[in-house]
Amino acid sequence: MALLEINGEECTGCGACIDVCPFGSLTLVEDIAEVDETCTACGACLDVCPVDALSLPERPEAPAEGLEAYQGLWVWVEQFQGEAASISWEMVGEGRKLADQRGTTLTACLLGHNVEHIAKQAVAYGADRVFWVDDPSLAVYRTRPYAAMLVALVRQYKPEIFLLGASSRGRDLAGSVATELYTGLTADCTGLDIDPETNLLRQTRPAFGGNIMATIICPNYRPQMATVRHRVFEMPVADETRQGQIVPVQPAMGEDEVAAKVVDFIMEQGEVNLADAKIIVSGGRGVGGPEGFDPVRKLAEVLGGALGASRAAVDAGWIPYAHQVGQTGRTVRPDLYIACGISGAVQHLAGMSTAKVIVAINKDPEAPIFTVANYGIVGDLFQVVPALTEQFKKKLHK
Ligand SMILES: Cc1cc2nc3c(=O)[nH]c(=O)nc-3n(C[C@H](O)[C@H](O)[C@H](O)COP(=O)(O)OP(=O)(O)OC[C@H]3O[C@@H](n4cnc5c(N)ncnc54)[C@H](O)[C@@H]3O)c2cc1C
Repeated sequence: MALLEINGEECTGCGACIDVCPFGSLTLVEDIAEVDETCTACGACLDVCPVDALSLPERPEAPAEGLEAYQGLWVWVEQFQGEAASISWEMVGEGRKLADQRGTTLTACLLGHNVEHIAKQAVAYGADRVFWVDDPSLAVYRTRPYAAMLVALVRQYKPEIFLLGASSRGRDLAGSVATELYTGLTADCTGLDIDPETNLLRQTRPAFGGNIMATIICPNYRPQMATVRHRVFEMPVADETRQGQIVPVQPAMGEDEVAAKVVDFIMEQGEVNLADAKIIVSGGRGVGGPEGFDPVRKLAEVLGGALGASRAAVDAGWIPYAHQVGQTGRTVRPDLYIACGISGAVQHLAGMSTAKVIVAINKDPEAPIFTVANYGIVGDLFQVVPALTEQFKKKLHK
C-alpha cells in the first residue's frame, strides 16, 4: 500500500503532482489524484501541490530509545535444506573481525527446522551467541515469517549493526527487515569497516555505474544494515573448540499467518557455480560471437574450471547471464582467473580482481586488464587459447 496520502476534499485535480512523479504512480480519477503501489514515498509531489492536498506520514528523526541502546553486531546465517550457505560463514568471519574492532559481541541469527548443527557451526566460525529459531514454519525461506522473526529479535535485543549475505534470499530479507525497522540499508557492499573516530559502520560499494566507490554511513538510525556479496570476504577457518551461547527462540509468526506456501523446489538444470569455482576462464567481446566461446570453453574444461563471461558478451546474447562476472554479475574469488578478449572495465574488475592469480589474453597491449593481471599475454586469443589448451592437456595427461 502506498504511503502517500491524498486529501480528496482539497485536491483540485490540477495534475501538477502527476507531471513531477518520477515513477508514474499518480493518475487522475474523476478529477482527483490517485496513487498506486508503485509510489516510493520520495516526496517529489509534495512541493508542487498548490493546495497542500498531499502528505506523507511523519518519519521518526531517530530511534526513540536513543542510539546508545543499540549494542552488538549481528549476522544472519542462511541455510537451505539443513545446510548452511557458505556466504553466511564469510559474513560471520568478517563480523567477528568487525565486532573485535568495535569491542563488542557477535550474534548469529539462525532460522530453520532441524538446524541445531548449524548453530554449533556458527559458534565454531566465530559467533559468541546464536539465536536459534527452530520451527517447521521456517524450514524453507519465505519472506514474511523470516522478516517478522528478525524484526521481533531486533526490537527486543537492539543490535547496533546487522549484516546479511547478498544472496537472493538475503537481499529479499534485508530489504524487508530494514523497511519494517525504518533504518538504512546499504546493498552489495564490497568492503566494511568501523570508523575509529565515530564508531560508525563504513559501508563501501560501487556507485554511479561503478565509476566511484562510495562509503556510506547510517548515523541516525539503528541497526546499521548492510548486505555483502558472496566471495567478497574470505572463508574463515572453523575452530571446533570455540565456546558460545546457543539461545532457543520461539517463532514470531504462526503458520496460519503465512500466506505463501512452498509446493516444491526444482533445481535449474546446468546451473553455473562460478562463486565456488577454483578456476575460471572467461570470454569477452573479443571472442566475436557465440562460437568464439568454443576455445575458451575447451580451456576451462581441460583445467576443470568454470566458464565466465563479460557483460558485453552476455548482452550480445552469446552466452547466458548466469556466466557473467562483474558488478552486475557474479563476484568471484578463484585461485586462477583467465580473461580472454576482455578489456578490463572497472565493472568487470569489481567482480574478479580478488582472484589469487589473473592471466589476461588480449591483443591490445594497452588494455586495462593488464593493470590487474599477474601474467599478461599480448596476442590473438584464437591462437593463444588453443595453444594453452594443448599444453595443459599434455601436462595434465588429458
Ligand atoms: C552499471 C554497469 C554495470 C556493469 N556491469 C558489468 C559486469 O557485471 N560485468 C562486466 O563484464 N561488465 C559490466 N559492465 C560493462 C562494462 O563497462 C564493459 O562494457 C564490459 O565489461 C566490456 O566487456 P568486454 O571487455 O568483453 O568488451 P570490450 O570492452 O569491447 O573489450 C573487448 C576486448 O577484447 C580485445 N580483443 C578483441 N579481439 C581480440 C582477439 N581476437 N584476441 C584477444 N583480444 C581481443 C580487445 O582488445 C578489447 O580489449 C557494466 C556497465 C555498467 C554501466
